[in-house]
Amino acid sequence: MLDLSLIVPVFNEEAVLPEFARVVTETLAPTGLNYEIIFVNDGSSDGTARFLESLVQSDSRVKAIEFSRNFGHQSAMTAGLRAAKGNACVIMDADLQDPPSLLIAMVEKWREGYDVVYAVRRSRDGESVFKKTTAAVFYRLLRSLAGVDIPPDTGDFRLMDRRVVDVLNALPERNRFLRGLVSWIGFRQIGVPFDRPARAAGETKFSLWKMLRFAVDGLTAFSRVPLRLVTVAGVGAFVASGSVLGWALWVRLYTDRSVPGWASLMGVILLLGGTQLLALGIIGEYLAHIFDEAKARPMYVVCSILANGGKKNGE
Ligand code: UDP
Ligand code: MG
Repeated sequence: MLDLSLIVPVFNEEAVLPEFARVVTETLAPTGLNYEIIFVNDGSSDGTARFLESLVQSDSRVKAIEFSRNFGHQSAMTAGLRAAKGNACVIMDADLQDPPSLLIAMVEKWREGYDVVYAVRRSRDGESVFKKTTAAVFYRLLRSLAGVDIPPDTGDFRLMDRRVVDVLNALPERNRFLRGLVSWIGFRQIGVPFDRPARAAGETKFSLWKMLRFAVDGLTAFSRVPLRLVTVAGVGAFVASGSVLGWALWVRLYTDRSVPGWASLMGVILLLGGTQLLALGIIGEYLAHIFDEAKARPMYVVCSILANGGKKNGE
């Protein structure tokens, strides 16, 4: 039986993959752990596939799952977790921002009996002030809105025991905000702090738009608070407009004051119009989730799986 499965989603990472493979192998060699590395190639258009092919040939502990196109980071992690055979699984990025040296500390905690060991970013190097600030706000907002205790400043770099992975794999949810789902599962969880270095090479694969989508998906998957705010705003608007209507009727019926008030009319229309559009947008986000789940399409399409006999890992 395998001790450890490393799951590594990759999207156009040819610049950093050779270094990643070298560092991971060097880090794990002295530990004597029986491990596999599952790369999930999320529709890369550069030389990633070619490199993975040669790596699979030269190292029987390496497997590669090739997607038919780019399905996104969450789908890639899900595919890796489903294919993993280890007693524990670790998800990590290929760009060495998740330092392999931390694996040792994670395995130690796992052996102490923890089911989930997540890496907490104490600091973040090489990232823009904008990304750091938005990330800090997002993690805190999520934590305060979500019904589950999602640790702040924690990405997907984490070790999970087999029983956690089994629960995760059995969840039918298609919109997978993995870091939230893992917290939702429970069991014994602990964080290990680390300083997040800059990317070893290449560029971030998360555009501003992708990050925004990810944040909205995460928030709406784990919190009903935005929907409740819509209801509260709706009730507020209803009460306010009822009172204004009463007042207008009273003015019309019992006084002879004329009401020219163009500015106040515009104010009310714009405010109500804006609130309604925002409310519709929020409802639309939840509706989109229901739509996706109802379509029941698979989260990804695999076009090939590369593995080299796997004699070394005893399968
Ligand atoms: N990634 C992926 N699919 C995507 C985008 C990213 O598999 O659509 C992978 C990427 O190759 C990397 C990891 O997810 O291994 C994290 O991406 P990145 O380092 O670009 O994100 P950042 O660290 O900048 O948030
Ligand atoms: Mg990165």
